[in-house]
Amino acid sequence: MYPSAVQEAYRAELASIREKGIFKEERFIHSPQAADIRVEFPRGADLKEVINLCSNNYLGLSSHPEVVAAAHRALDERGYGMSSVRFICGTQDIHKELEGKLTEFLGTEDTILFPSCMDANAGVFEAVLNEQDVMIADRLVHASMVDGMRLCRAKQDTYKHADMKHLEQKLQEHQDARIRMIITDGVFSMDGDLAPLDEICALADKYTAMVFVDDSHATGFMGKTGRGTHEHCSVFGRIDIITTTLGKALGGASGGCVSGRAEIVELCRQRARPYLFSNAVPPPIAGAALKVLEILSKTTERRDKLEANTKFWRRALAEAGFVIKEGDSPIVPIMLFNAKLSQDISRDLYREGIYVIGFFFPVVPAGQARIRTQMSADHDIPMLERAVESFKKVGAKYGILGLDKKGIIEKYGQ
Ligand code: PLP
Repeated sequence: MYPSAVQEAYRAELASIREKGIFKEERFIHSPQAADIRVEFPRGADLKEVINLCSNNYLGLSSHPEVVAAAHRALDERGYGMSSVRFICGTQDIHKELEGKLTEFLGTEDTILFPSCMDANAGVFEAVLNEQDVMIADRLVHASMVDGMRLCRAKQDTYKHADMKHLEQKLQEHQDARIRMIITDGVFSMDGDLAPLDEICALADKYTAMVFVDDSHATGFMGKTGRGTHEHCSVFGRIDIITTTLGKALGGASGGCVSGRAEIVELCRQRARPYLFSNAVPPPIAGAALKVLEILSKTTERRDKLEANTKFWRRALAEAGFVIKEGDSPIVPIMLFNAKLSQDISRDLYREGIYVIGFFFPVVPAGQARIRTQMSADHDIPMLERAVESFKKVGAKYGILGLDKKGIIEKYGQ
């Protein structure tokens, strides 16, 4: 029974999403994920070759021939799916091997795979914390951690984004809790900035707190050998819980993990609900992820190229006169402050053969609309030079080149 009143209410909600201009349209990609892709947008339009500046394919491994071949091999040798959760009959040797290799790569004590990092974050807090404990999270943590914290009975508190004074105050306030857990992203996905993990670890030592880092936008490329933000910030071995995804730099398919202290990982194996009640990572993904880690352990070539591309891109955009968010990560937001402007510019860039998406409230705070660009090791400098020219052309059309934040807001509103 689907009451017509309910149907009408849902239709009205959808209409209101459209009216507000925040309806998310999908674009259809007709090629493998890569630096240049073939896109159909809108539905039915001719296919267009575009430079892709908005994927999480940081290391360009999503369609790498060796990774694809490894997936094929695992598919042939171990089958398509497990038809089971891990603890019933869903664990193959390659799952254990992958957990071991991730542990080695991340420099932790143990690792447990989840169907996704969303699931890892949904399961981990509830598995290791109770009502005597407190979770103190950066205010900009990813939605998956927000959801995971909601499922957990521990007290919740937050500190202002990357504000160490505020975090210290919160740690002092919660000195009577059994466990204090500081929760942060390693790299924040919308701004591309890094958590100050060295300072966070120092505060954790001072106030006997545990540190949790979601390194989904860092594993594989941040740090000299790509281990993540803990390597970049020289706190390797000091993070108690790292969660990360196989769905971005590490091949880009799906899968995630909790990696860290041995007891925490074991408690997840016993209690984490997305681990106990959702299917094992499919064999082709486990096989391909093993190949990814083998490639990354042999050479830093890809993360080095990503770093060089990022430096080039940040410098070129700043020189062209765009307002960008400073940082070291390959996430480079171009600030526009006005939602409509972000949509207009991304649409014009698409016409120019550049695939980017404009983000605005509620994905980012109100008045902080932007186009988020992301570098990949698959880009090359000539490709990025072409992209910069397109950005300059469109930026000039809207008269924003050389304007600072105030200038853009005066011209377009916020
Ligand atoms: N954590 C962060 C910081 C993310 O950006 C994302 C995905 O966007 C996730 C977790 C979820 O990852 P997965 O796709 O593996 O569920």
